[in-house]
Amino acid sequence: MITAPFEYARPGSVDETQSLLNKYGSDAKVIAGGQSLIPLMRLRLSQPTALIDIQGIPGLNEVRRDNGSVEIGALVRHVDIQRNAMLRESLPILVEMSNDVGDNQVRNLGTIGGVIAHGDAAGDYNAAALMLDAEIITNKRRHQARDFYRDIFTTALEHDEVVTAVRFPVSTGRFAYTKFRRRLYDWAIAGVAVQETGSSWRVGYVNLATTPRRGSAVEAALAGGASAADAAAQSGSDIDPTSDVRATAEYKRHLTQVLTVRTLQKATMAA
Ligand SMILES: Cc1cc2nc3c(=O)[nH]c(=O)nc-3n(C[C@H](O)[C@H](O)[C@H](O)COP(=O)(O)OP(=O)(O)OC[C@H]3O[C@@H](n4cnc5c(N)ncnc54)[C@H](O)[C@@H]3O)c2cc1C
Repeated sequence: MITAPFEYARPGSVDETQSLLNKYGSDAKVIAGGQSLIPLMRLRLSQPTALIDIQGIPGLNEVRRDNGSVEIGALVRHVDIQRNAMLRESLPILVEMSNDVGDNQVRNLGTIGGVIAHGDAAGDYNAAALMLDAEIITNKRRHQARDFYRDIFTTALEHDEVVTAVRFPVSTGRFAYTKFRRRLYDWAIAGVAVQETGSSWRVGYVNLATTPRRGSAVEAALAGGASAADAAAQSGSDIDPTSDVRATAEYKRHLTQVLTVRTLQKATMAA
C-alpha cells in the first residue's frame, strides 16, 4: 500500500520541530523510527499532511545516569537499549523488554520516544514507564507516567509537543518480564512485568486494557504478605482486556493470573 502524499521537513532542533508542527497544523506529525507511523500511513489509517523528521536533531540519542535516575533520549533505539551496559546494570527490566520488541529491523529503527508518544497499550516500555513512575520529558513540560496514558493510543501530549527523553528511577532489584505471544516477533497478547523496589514489588501489564496498566491490587496483596498465587488472583481488578482475533477477554484474564504467578516466580528464582 502506498501512503497519501505529504510534505517532509527535517529540522535541526526541538524548537524548530515545534515551529514546523505549528506551521503545518494539527495534521502534521513527528516521525522518528517510522516503525509504527509508516505502517499506519501505508494502510491510510493515518494521513498526516506533513512529516517532521526528528532523526537529525543532535543530543536526543543519549543515555545518562545521575542521582538515582536514568535519562534515556527520545531517539534512543531498541537496539541501543539492548547494547547499553549501563542500562543493563541500572534498568535491566528495560533491556529485557528491548530484546523482545519486534524483529531486527524494528529494533534497529524504532525509538523509545516513539513507543512512549504512540501510547500503544501493547508497547512494552509503556508498562515499564507506568509501573516505575517514570517521567516523560518534552519541549513543554514533564509528565508523570501515571497521568500520561489517557485512552487507546491517546496520551497527554499536545499537537506541538515533542518527547525529548524518558526518565526512569534506577531499578536494580529483582525483576522479570513475560511476553506471551504465539509467534516470535509478534506483539504481546499479554505481557507481565515485575520489579522489586526496596521491600515492595511493582507490577505492570502490557496489552491488557486500552492503556498500559499498573498492577496496583496485586502489588497491595504482595505488600500484605500474600503468596504469588493469591496476589495474582487480584489481577482481574487491575486489567480490562477486550476480546480480539487472538484471544477472548476471558482467556486473557485467566492468562494474566497465570503469567503473574510465573513472572513473580521467575524474578524470585533468578536471584
Ligand atoms: C512488525 C512490528 C512489530 C513490532 N512489535 C513491537 C513489540 O513487540 N513491542 C513494542 O513495544 N513495539 C513493537 N513495534 C513498534 C516499535 O516498537 C516502534 O518502534 C514504536 O512503536 C514506535 O517508535 P518509532 O520510533 O518507530 O516511532 P514512529 O513510528 O516514528 O512514531 C510513532 C508515533 O509517535 C510519534 N512520535 C515519535 N517520536 C516522537 C517524539 N519524540 N515526540 C513526539 N511524538 C513522537 C509519531 O508522531 C507517531 O504518532 C513493532 C513494530 C512493527 C513494525
